[in-house]
Amino acid sequence: AMVANVGGVLKKIKHEIRALESTSSNFKNQLEQATREIKHLKNKMAQYRDEALKDPLTRIANRRGFDQHIEATIASVNQHNTFPCLILADIDYFKNVNDIHGHLVGDHVLRLVAATIKSSIKGRDIVARIGGEEFAVLLPSTPFEGAMTLAESMRSSFERLNFKSRVSRKTLGTITLSFGVTKYKEGESIDDFIQRADEALYKSKNTGRNKVTGI
Ligand code: GH3
Ligand code: MG
Ligand code: MG
Repeated sequence: AMVANVGGVLKKIKHEIRALESTSSNFKNQLEQATREIKHLKNKMAQYRDEALKDPLTRIANRRGFDQHIEATIASVNQHNTFPCLILADIDYFKNVNDIHGHLVGDHVLRLVAATIKSSIKGRDIVARIGGEEFAVLLPSTPFEGAMTLAESMRSSFERLNFKSRVSRKTLGTITLSFGVTKYKEGESIDDFIQRADEALYKSKNTGRNKVTGI
């Protein structure tokens, strides 16, 4: 009777061990599953964070993205010992494009303008769509004369571009942009820096458009 009893106890213990083993392997599976989910969510979060800084229409940086870039650039001004330049560009009479050809063609023009500006910059330079039909180009280490030359080459490249409507294949005529260029002054606020580029842009607007003004 004793022997039979020991056998029964052993059987019970074996059973308990097996149960424990399967519970712990369940735990392991659940942990692995949770780890996978966390990794997936982290990726999603990084993706959403990137998208929040991008303009969905043109796929370049939006105003928020631009603000982050300019803050980082100004914060590291002393490290690099070079001051950034800022170019603001605004499409001339863009309202007419929408009024005459429709909003969809207007959107198409915005994408083309963004792509054209993007293709004319390089390296650490940043392009952003900071308003409806207004773009900013931040040049972290370009001298003022270089920024002026770049703005002028962009201006003339738009003049030569022949925009066509995707819908009607009709030409949209020449679409021009006005530009304002300025260089960061040591110690000034970001707002003052942008404000001066804006003044330069408005000078271009008020003196006939399709122009580059540097201050
Ligand atoms: P100016 O030469 O003085 O800059 O004249 P403008 O017509 O370009 O400027 P205004 O500020 O009068 O008009 C800007 C127009 O840009 C009005 C608005 O309908 C258009 N716009 C802004 N955002 C978008 C957009 O996302 N898509 C389209 N299609 N149009 C837009
Ligand atoms: Mg405009
Ligand atoms: Mg505007």
